[in-house]
Amino acid sequence: MYSFIFLPHNLLNLLLIATGVIFFLIMISFSIVFFQEKEYRAAKIAFITSLFVASPFILISLMQFAYKDVIAFIILFITYSAVLVLFIPIRFSKKELFSEPTDKHDERDIMFSRNELVPNTEKYTQYYALNPEKKVIDDNFRDKPGLLSPESVFYHTLAYASANANLQVIEALKPFVNGTVAAKKLEVDNEKISKYLKAWASKLGAHSTGITILKEYHLYSHKGRKELYGKEITNHHKFAIAITVEMDNDLISTAPKGPVIMESTQQYLNSGTIALQIASFIRELGYSARAHIDGNYELICPLVARDAGLGEIGRMGLLITPKLGPRVRLAVVTTDIPLPVDTKSDFSSVIDFCTICKKCAVVCPSHAISLENRKKISNTLRWKINSESCFTYWCSAGTDCGRCIAVCPYSHPNNLMHNIIRWGIHNSSLFQRFALFMDNIFYGKKPKSRKIPSWIDI
Ligand code: SF4
Ligand code: SF4
Repeated sequence: MYSFIFLPHNLLNLLLIATGVIFFLIMISFSIVFFQEKEYRAAKIAFITSLFVASPFILISLMQFAYKDVIAFIILFITYSAVLVLFIPIRFSKKELFSEPTDKHDERDIMFSRNELVPNTEKYTQYYALNPEKKVIDDNFRDKPGLLSPESVFYHTLAYASANANLQVIEALKPFVNGTVAAKKLEVDNEKISKYLKAWASKLGAHSTGITILKEYHLYSHKGRKELYGKEITNHHKFAIAITVEMDNDLISTAPKGPVIMESTQQYLNSGTIALQIASFIRELGYSARAHIDGNYELICPLVARDAGLGEIGRMGLLITPKLGPRVRLAVVTTDIPLPVDTKSDFSSVIDFCTICKKCAVVCPSHAISLENRKKISNTLRWKINSESCFTYWCSAGTDCGRCIAVCPYSHPNNLMHNIIRWGIHNSSLFQRFALFMDNIFYGKKPKSRKIPSWIDI
C-alpha cells in the first residue's frame, strides 16, 4: 500500500519511529553528558525532554486515524526542515570586529595598581592629585575588607590559603621574567621553532598558543605595580607569544565563592610558569625574551592573545576562546627570535553572539558589564566594563568573583556536545538564537553558583 505521497505506509511509520528514537538518543546523550559535568538541573531537563520529544513521533506511528499519512508527512517535513535550517551556515550580519585602539593604557590606572597605593605616601598623593575624580571611587573599595581578607563575604580558610600560596609562588617567580641571553645566537628555522614552541607549550599544559607582531597598543605606557611604579615602558621586541591555560570548570562554577580565586591564581601560576620556561628557552638560543606574568606585565594580555588569533574580546571584556570561552588565564612572552605570525581566524560570531546573549551582564553582582551594544572608545568599537564596580565587589567578596566567566555559554566544557553547539554558533545566526534559548532552558537565565566541592569544603 502506498500513501498519497507515494511513500509506503510502512516507510512513513519507520521514519516516524526512527526520528523519535534519534531525538530520544540525542537528548539522553545530552542528559548523560550534563550529568558527567555535574550540571544536574540540565541533566534532569534533558532526561524529561528525551521522553517528550520522542513520544509524538512514536504515538503517531502506532495510531490509526484519517489522513494519518498526510499528518505524518507534514510533521516529518517540518522537523527535518527545521533541523536543516538551523545548521545551514548563514549569518545575517557579521559585526565589525574589535579594531586597533589609538591610545595606550597606563598600568597605574588599573585597579590592582590603585589598590596598592598606600594613603599618606608620595605615590598616593601624586596619583589622586592627577586623578581627583578617582579618589571617592577608590576610597569606596578601600572601605571594604579586601581581596582574600578573612572578613570578606566568601572567606574560606583552605581556598584562601591555597590562593595565597599560589600568589606567593608567583611573587617568587617574578625575578625570572627577564634573564641573561646566551652569548651565541643559534640560527633557527622560524617555522620549526614555532612548531616546537607550540608543541612544548601544549605539553607543559597550555590550551592554545599563538604568535603576533608586538604592537604599540599592546603595551602599557607606564608600569603601575610595586618597585617599577611610574617607569615608562619600552619594549622593542618584535614578536609576542600568547599562551592560554584552562581554568577548571568545577571550581569556576562555584563563583563567586572561595574556590574561584584558588583556581584563577593556580592558572596564573601555570600560565606564568609556561611563559617563564619559554622565555628562558629562547634566551638559551641567544635571543632576547621577556615573560609577562601575573603582577608583572608590560602589556595587556587579552589584546595580544586576540591578535595572535586565540579568540575575540567579548561583552565581559575578556578573551573569548573558541573552545573554552573566557574560562582561561593568559600569559605572554615577547621576544626578538624570528617567528611566523599566526593568521587570525574569523571570530566575528563571538561579537554577534555576545550582542544577543548578555548572560554575564545579567548575573554580574556589581552591574559592571554593559547591557547595551558596543560603543566606539578610542577608535575601538567595544564593550567597556566598569572595572571600578567590579573590583569594589571583589573587595567585599574577597574573591575575584568570576560569575561572568562561570555563566558564559562559551565556558562549557570542551567536549563533542558543546563543540557541535559552538560550531553552530560560529556558523549560523539562527543557531545562535536557538543555542541561547536552549542554554537558558538547561542552565537557567541566571545559572546558580555550584556548591564548593567536598574535597575543598572539609
Ligand atoms: S555571557 Fe554571553 S554576552 Fe557575556 S561574554 Fe559570554 S557569550 Fe558574551
Ligand atoms: S568578575 Fe563578577 S563583578 Fe566582575 S564583571 Fe564579572 S561578574 Fe561582574
